[in-house]
Amino acid sequence: MPELPEVETTINELKSIVLNKNINKIILNTDSLRKPINKKKIKKIEGLKIINVSRRGKYIIISFTNDYILLIHLGMSGRLIFRKDKLVINKHDHIVFFIKKNFYIILNDPRKFGLVDVFLKKDLKNCNHLKNLGVEPLTKEFSFFYLKNALLKRKSNIKTFLLNQKIIAGLGNIYVCESLFESNISPFQIAKNLKRKQISLLCLKIKKVLQYAINLKGSSISDFKLPSGLLGKFQNKFKVYDREGKICKRKGCKEMIIRSVINGRSTYYCKKCQKM
Ligand SMILES: [Zn+2]
Repeated sequence: MPELPEVETTINELKSIVLNKNINKIILNTDSLRKPINKKKIKKIEGLKIINVSRRGKYIIISFTNDYILLIHLGMSGRLIFRKDKLVINKHDHIVFFIKKNFYIILNDPRKFGLVDVFLKKDLKNCNHLKNLGVEPLTKEFSFFYLKNALLKRKSNIKTFLLNQKIIAGLGNIYVCESLFESNISPFQIAKNLKRKQISLLCLKIKKVLQYAINLKGSSISDFKLPSGLLGKFQNKFKVYDREGKICKRKGCKEMIIRSVINGRSTYYCKKCQKM
């Protein structure tokens, strides 16, 4: 958390508010997030104009004039916040990007797992953060054939496989649990043993779940809000995620949703609908 739909919704809001605006000053209130922050590098974007905002996996890519790129990852608990008011620094407000007087964007991140870095455009593709990312699940490249090939010889369970950012970029715990439920696949199933029909359905459902979540502006759990302060609404549509002990939402199924831990992550599923 935040995953692809929350990051996508965040960049859509950013685009509508900061495109063609200058970042005039940056205040850093911390020396490190997930890693130490290179202040000198970050300061290079001071005075530059924002010309594009895009996404790769769970990374936010803000493009500036002079070919500079600001790369942001929100980690476990990060969010960007717009404020149009007198500057007040609240707890966990680690970086302030000033656009003009009484108008700025703040990076707030209580658990400090986020990341902020600056690159030249030509170095972005091959930077350590992006170079190994897998396909974007909402593009044509993520197809039945891609998934079938990627699953070959994979001995891990399908849940762990889908969370691997080197295979599919942007999926996290929520959307993996929901996609597996929609596909009637047990999270414990060994990846390489998936049948053709299951692979085809899983590919389709991943795209559907993500697109539906984007339409609802993502999921607002653990205090996640969009930069404008709006809440996403997909959390109201969860069928398994965070529903331990509640009745399965599939028609005719009266089973209770189970929570198990796979690779240290909570995993929610219905053992009747998602048989091994
Ligand atoms: Zn069920």
